[in-house]
Amino acid sequence: MPVGTHGVVRGISMDEVAAAGGQMVLANAYHLYLRPGDMMVRALGGLHAFTRWNGPMLTDSGGFQVFSLSKLRTVSEDGVEFQSHIDGSTHQYTPESVMRIERNLGADVMMQLDELIQGRSDISAARSAMERSLRWLQRCKVEFDRISHEGRAPIPDFTVPADAPALACDDAAPEQALFPIVQGGTHATLRKASMTGILESGDWAGVAIGGLSVGETKSDTYAMLEVCDPILPRNVPRYLMGVGFPDDLVEGVQRGIDLFDCVAPTRMGRDGTAFTPDGKMQIRQSSYRTDRRPLVEGCDCPCCTHYDRAYLRHLFVSEEMLGKRLLALHNVSFLIGVMTSAREALRGGTFDSWSGAWLARYRGGE
Ligand SMILES: [Zn+2]
Repeated sequence: MPVGTHGVVRGISMDEVAAAGGQMVLANAYHLYLRPGDMMVRALGGLHAFTRWNGPMLTDSGGFQVFSLSKLRTVSEDGVEFQSHIDGSTHQYTPESVMRIERNLGADVMMQLDELIQGRSDISAARSAMERSLRWLQRCKVEFDRISHEGRAPIPDFTVPADAPALACDDAAPEQALFPIVQGGTHATLRKASMTGILESGDWAGVAIGGLSVGETKSDTYAMLEVCDPILPRNVPRYLMGVGFPDDLVEGVQRGIDLFDCVAPTRMGRDGTAFTPDGKMQIRQSSYRTDRRPLVEGCDCPCCTHYDRAYLRHLFVSEEMLGKRLLALHNVSFLIGVMTSAREALRGGTFDSWSGAWLARYRGGE
């Protein structure tokens, strides 16, 4: 899922995401709650209408952003109190309020609020956060079910310019799925306990694995995925949150993961780094000054079919915004292409040989 934190995959239009083969995008509840506001998004027709994305969409609860505000937040059993990074105003995030926010935003998949801890946390800190996340999941589910039965709170009155169409007044809550999040740090016993708690408490349409790729070693990440793989149901999607780079995706698929999200393709593209089958490439390097080849030979994205490395390097050296956009678009297309190839290899029964060769080439080039 390309990440559209603010309801936009930075620098890329939703049409371009779809043309690149994107099937599902992610938006962030924390950012949209603060600006323009979840009620405003709902009044403007909900996230799909607001952003003009017609496919499936997922909202992250915003827990990751709130917990990242380490000096600006206080955590209790009730929830998290934090100060807005925009204007310093105080806000309360509880499992219930997060459900109301995500219900207003209206994405197809919404995430529970969970408690996040530092990577490499010791077992007692990881256990208490995992257990609290399970208690918060119960509260999320109760509120989610309540809204499904009772409907959403009324939309406040927003001023509409004279002659402009009225805002939405349909109060029917859209059909949405709630995903629980497996926590437990890098401790296998805690991951198992988290999954037991989750699977006993509901019939979920999908399950996420959180709290990885936050500073632990890659082998710890893979070990935790291998703990989850045999336990999680095989008939619903498994979503590995906040991952990742091209090789992380292949390693994740190998361990049973279906869905990923990461800002890396757009962020790295803006910084002048392109993903290629031979590893990462820095377009600013002077060796590309006279290079008439595309970024990646055979890539059918608009960047690679229209422009050469010499021009792309020139755009970056001149700090032109088109360069950032084109590299972001290429990186998003590249990751979607990796997932398409992985899917074909799985269907063809050749995943092991495909992934081995793919990883060897990608890592050999770095
Ligand atoms: Zn390309």
